[in-house]
Amino acid sequence: MKGLVMRSTGSFYDVLSEGKKHICRVRGKIRLAGIKETNPVAVGDYVSFELENDYGSITEILDRKNHILRKSIKKTGHSHVLAANIDQAMMVATLSMPRTSLGFIDRFLVSAEAFRIPQVIVFNKRDLLDDESRDYVDSLMARYRNIGVTCFSISAKQDDLSEIQKLLTNKITLVAGHSGVGKSTLLNKISPAITQTVGDISDFSSKGTHTTTFAEMFKIAEETFVIDTPGVKEWGLVDMTDQELSDYFPEMRDVRLDCKFGSRCIHIKEPKCAVVEAVKNGVIALERYESYLSMIDNDDNRK
Ligand code: GDP
Ligand code: ZN
Repeated sequence: MKGLVMRSTGSFYDVLSEGKKHICRVRGKIRLAGIKETNPVAVGDYVSFELENDYGSITEILDRKNHILRKSIKKTGHSHVLAANIDQAMMVATLSMPRTSLGFIDRFLVSAEAFRIPQVIVFNKRDLLDDESRDYVDSLMARYRNIGVTCFSISAKQDDLSEIQKLLTNKITLVAGHSGVGKSTLLNKISPAITQTVGDISDFSSKGTHTTTFAEMFKIAEETFVIDTPGVKEWGLVDMTDQELSDYFPEMRDVRLDCKFGSRCIHIKEPKCAVVEAVKNGVIALERYESYLSMIDNDDNRK
């Protein structure tokens, strides 16, 4: 049988197959080329499994389109696959109640970019903003659209959400964002009543009661899934050198080719750095550059 992995506890997996949930284990060793990890099956994986009595036994992971890694907490050099086969990553953000920092947004974008996953930002709770703040959100959206991010500014409570619904349909979308920004409100509103209950989106808001560090997938419509990664602040940025980081800032990618220091430049204090020059000229947003600097400073896991 073939199925889609909806949930992992580390030793058991919920696998959705023809509308039914099967609890599966991994029997023996499954290895994936090029991935050093102890727990190879991830949420979003398509797997083959055999049913034996009540439990299934996963025998094969089908080819992945992509996967994202979570940095190991202990610095063992091992990292685990957080999720696989992701079509896009969507962050729900709010300027207030609660405030999402630009640094948090940029880390999310860089991580997704590092795994070549298209990015979406939904700025929510527009109804709470005054004119000035709305202008500010609009300027942020212009900035992010310029680097290829799909952006929305909405009130999940009041607005028609059919555009976002369309964007999610037939895809696996990783959803991120602080607690309280309106993820459940948004997803519940765009999810039509679906008859089957396996990993139903109605569970989405009650999550968080269990403190799993694994990702979990929810079905919001036929062939339409979202992945929640509770408790995971950071994914990506694994084994990345300082020199590589600017690859994942699209607006720096071309500019840095003009750095006099060449590919060794990390765009901080080097003479005639084209990136620093572009920040001075306003071609690269200062806040984006500040996010870049904070990632260089903070990421002690990189060489
Ligand atoms: P989650 O933790 O990200 O899933 O956030 P929830 O969907 O549970 O929403 C948190 C709170 O924000 C709830 O009280 C929602 O009713 C409220 N909320 C969500 N979207 C909006 C919105 O667009 N405008 C306003 N004013 N409140 C919202
Ligand atoms: Zn430079």
